Amino acid sequence: MHECHQVQKVVTEAQAMLKEKGIQDPKKANLVVGELLGFDEGCIRLYWEEMTQSTPLSKTALSIQFVPAMLECAACKIKFAKKGSNLLCPQCNKIGTLPPSGSSGKEFFINKIE
Ligand SMILES: [Zn+2]
Repeated sequence: MHECHQVQKVVTEAQAMLKEKGIQDPKKANLVVGELLGFDEGCIRLYWEEMTQSTPLSKTALSIQFVPAMLECAACKIKFAKKGSNLLCPQCNKIGTLPPSGSSGKEFFINKIE
């Protein structure tokens, strides 16, 4: 499982964000997770709980927002969200491909903490 290292990383990042923003007692944190990572929400929560125990984040409510990968259709030049295992372009029904940057659907970061 890769969740462990990734969660450790966002916990570190979240603590840096708290310092930066001068937040003492964070109530909510929102974690963005790309669907392509195949991470399990239960696992993420378990690691989060474990790793935030002795930090100011121990009582912070974590919300997890899964985001789909964006695919590109070479024929129509459009981008569309991957839905489950469906890779087909909504316009022409050809198989879409992941953009070459390769980061779409692999997001894993805290985008909001308050
Ligand atoms: Zn198309």
